[in-house]
Formats: sequence, structure tokens, C-alpha cells
Amino acid sequence: MVVQWTQADAEMAKQSERVLTQLNTHGFEAYWVGGCVRDELLGRAVDDMDITTSASPEQVMALFEDCIPTGLQHGTVTVRAGGYYFEVTTFRTESDYRDNRRPAAVQFVQDIKEDLQRRDFTMNALAMDVNGTLVDPFGGQTDIKQELVRCVGLAVERFGEDALRMLRCVRFASVFNFRIAYNTWKGFVHQRELLQHIAMERVRTEMVKMMAGPHPLKGLELLFRSRALEYVKAPVDSSRFNKDLLAGLEHLSGDHVLLRWTCLLLAGGYNREEADKLLRNWTFSNEQRSRITGVLQVEQLVTAFVEQDEEDNKLRESWIESELACGAQAADDWLMLQEELPKRWRDLSEQVEARLAKVQAFAAGWSRSIPVHEIKELEITGEQVLQLVDRKGGPWLGQLMKHLLRETAVGNITNQHEALRAEVRRVAADDQA
Ligand code: ATP
Ligand code: MG
Repeated sequence: MVVQWTQADAEMAKQSERVLTQLNTHGFEAYWVGGCVRDELLGRAVDDMDITTSASPEQVMALFEDCIPTGLQHGTVTVRAGGYYFEVTTFRTESDYRDNRRPAAVQFVQDIKEDLQRRDFTMNALAMDVNGTLVDPFGGQTDIKQELVRCVGLAVERFGEDALRMLRCVRFASVFNFRIAYNTWKGFVHQRELLQHIAMERVRTEMVKMMAGPHPLKGLELLFRSRALEYVKAPVDSSRFNKDLLAGLEHLSGDHVLLRWTCLLLAGGYNREEADKLLRNWTFSNEQRSRITGVLQVEQLVTAFVEQDEEDNKLRESWIESELACGAQAADDWLMLQEELPKRWRDLSEQVEARLAKVQAFAAGWSRSIPVHEIKELEITGEQVLQLVDRKGGPWLGQLMKHLLRETAVGNITNQHEALRAEVRRVAADDQA
């Protein structure tokens, strides 16, 4: 191998090189292109390697046994080599963008430079051949050195063709901690309204990548400053965010990206219902949505009970009730989040703040002491309760089971059949009285 890839899996590099060589042997030009070349120069892990070639899709298909016609009309064939998949795309230009988001037509061309010209940013318009020779017609290497995101060509036009590029621009600036070239920024602000044409799913994908990166605050600042999020299909008002609270976001590791989103929503003053609606519109999955809103629900319950409860034991019981209502994951997440938020951001009285501090200090221990989280873990079934009290089922039964769960969870009764029976009898007798 001539080219020493330092950021790519060695076997993937070798297999992709064989694809390039095979194309070259048959008289076609072939290059690694785009993100993989950029990431290698940046010293960032290369996850996949895209290939661009002068061969037509049919010619590519004829040369490789194991391939999938992924998007023939766009010139893309996926070639499988040694268990790796490589997208091999014929040199092409794009034209006639519809709705500011997708080209209605592509034309295959013979010059790599024309292909690179259709790409979004100079750092993504880089190609490298098997000898390691770079094709860099737009100064991508210089921009990478200067840490700049710069459009290929006129930013206003390029963002006008495909509005998603504006969010990719912010994402790259945020993840790489790059600045945005002046004209690129101006083009972005000029074209921000076009973001209304982009499906929220694609908006979310870019935002999620940005939020998982090492500098999400930088990206958020760019979004707030450009007011871009006010123009997407499910808009968000930049002015509602508490900037101090947002600072907590980067202390949460990128592995906890959902917790970062929770922090963002908390900083935006979203309650559980508002957050649920927003996340739905932003096409988050049910699972992601409930993970995030669960924490906001804990926040609501805790801030309410610290206003009321004075005694330590009452605080403990209320915490446990909150955990039963929202789930252990949400309680855990809430606690983890507290560690990263600035102190006293809630604007509570001295006294209430002290109670909240107590909750934060002891809650983990209280949580560990909870013997049961769900009704089905109780050593008594609904059926057994019915037999015991000799009553017909009804809503009362659910309430009673919840009561048993609560009493067991806070430790007032043990999770033993006899103890639970005794409590059922006691409650039944109370009811009769
Ligand atoms: P990453 O994979 O890290 O998200 P990437 O730059 O590789 O970043 P891909 O979506 O994998 O992004 O696209 C591969 C290449 O295709 C890019 O490097 C760029 O050259 C080109 N490209 C992708 N999306 C666009 C777009 N919206 N407009 C123009 N060119 C694009
Ligand atoms: Mg990529």
C-alpha cells in the first residue's frame, strides 16, 4: 500500500484500495473522496470510505461481482469487498435543485474537479488517489489548517440549492471547533428562511450529531446567533434559553447525548408537556422522548415537593414517590444532571434551596433503599387481594395496589405476603368504617 491511512481501520483501507486499483486497471480514474479524506487530514477517526470514479455505474457493476445498485440514477453503486461496503459514485454534477433540497437532475462527467465542485464545503471537496496524490481545487487543505468551514463557490447559491447545507455548516463548525468563513456565514444568515423546506428528521440528524460532539455549545451559539432554528418546520425561539444553564451541557459526556438534550430543554424552560410536543415534532423516537421528558417530570415533582416538605423523612418519601412515578432511569438521570448545573439557578428561597440540597445529597441512597418499583414485584397479586376482601374488582383495586407499592417502597411495610395481607385488611376495615 502506498497510502498510509492512520485514521482508518487497516483492513478497510486495504480493501478500499483494491477497489480503486481494480478501477484503475481498467482505465478508469478512481479516488477516495469527501469525509474520509477530510477526517484523515484532521486526524479524526475515519468511519467509512467513499469512492468516486470516472466509470459509469454500469461499468462499476461489470467490474465487481459483489455489488448493490444503491442509487443508479444518482450514479451510486455499493461495492462489497472483504466484508466492507464502499459507495462508489460516478463523477457527476447536480443541477435543477427542487424545493431547496434535492437536485432533480444529475449529469455524469469525466472530470473529477467538476464532481468536487458540487460538494458543499472546501474541506469536503477533497479527493485522493491510490498514490496519495490529493486533488484539492478549492483550497480545502488550507481551510482545514486555518480551521475554517467555507462553501465551495458562492455561499448564497450553495445554501439556496440545498438548505440542509446550512445545518451541516453549523455541525462541522461545532464538532471540529472551526470558524465559519465570513461569506459563508453571510450566505447562511441570508438564506436561513429556506430551512423551512427541510424535513425535521434531517434537521434532527444534524443536531444530534452536533449535540454529541465535543463542542455542542459552540453550535448552539451559532444557531442562536443566526436564529436559524426559528425557521425550521418545528421552530424554536432562541431567546428563551438560559445561557448559564446551557454551560452544564458540555460537562455531560457526549455518551450522554440525551441528557444533553434534557439540559437544553431545561435551559429553554420547557416543562414535560411542551418538551414532549417539541420532541415529537422533531421526530425523536418514543424511547428517546420518554427518556428526556422523564427527567423533566422529576424536575417538576422535586421542585414542587421541596416547597412543601420540611422534614427529612418526608423529603425521602416524596423522592421515592417521584421515582415510582417517573422511573429509576429518570431519577438517576435527574441526579446526574444536577451535578453539572450551576448552583442555585432555580431562584428558590434560602430554606427551600437547603431542602433541595438535601435531596441531592441523599437521593442516591434513598433510591438504593427502594425494594420494589413496580406492582408486579409485590408479594401479593391483585387476584389474592380480591379473594382476601371478597369484593368485585374495580378502580379501587388499582388504587389499593398502588398504595401497597408506595408503602412498601418507602419502607412502611415489608414486601412479604403476610405483611401485605395485613395492610389490605387494615385498609379494607378503614373503608368499611
Ligand atoms: P460525516 O459522514 O462525518 O457526517 P461527511 O462529510 O462524510 O460527514 P456524508 O453525508 O457522509 O458527510 O457525505 C459524504 C460527502 O458527500 C461529503 O463529504 C460531501 O463531499 C458530499 N455531501 C454530502 N452532503 C452534501 C450536501 N448536502 N451538499 C453537497 N455535498 C454533500
Ligand atoms: Mg461520511
